Amino acid sequence: MHELGIANSVLDAVRTEMSLHPGTYPCKVGVRIGEMAAIDQEALRFCFEAIILDTDLKSLELEIEVCPRRHRCQACGRDFVVHDYDSRCPQCASLETTCISGDELELAYLEVEEYGSSTVGAKSSQ
Ligand SMILES: [Zn+2]
Repeated sequence: MHELGIANSVLDAVRTEMSLHPGTYPCKVGVRIGEMAAIDQEALRFCFEAIILDTDLKSLELEIEVCPRRHRCQACGRDFVVHDYDSRCPQCASLETTCISGDELELAYLEVEEYGSSTVGAKSSQ
């Protein structure tokens, strides 16, 4: 499954990032996904939760941000969001537009907590 591979790369990125911040643990990770990357958000969330379930990262929360497809007009230079695959410039109606974003797949942010900080209570979620 496409989404499982992506979930694994997100987790790899988190682990790489965590190795740079010893003494902390991740509580939330944000990923940015372009509309054109054709990723099923629910499937990605499901895969992510499945692969972290039996690990030390099982409480990690995944936040998915979808970026719309954007084009830039060659004629007038305007950037605009494409709706319903209509890539015509809304300003001058030119069809000479090029895609500038919408296929992103990247780590947007990672929220970490320090081990032993006051936000970590003694109460277990079990
Ligand atoms: Zn234009």
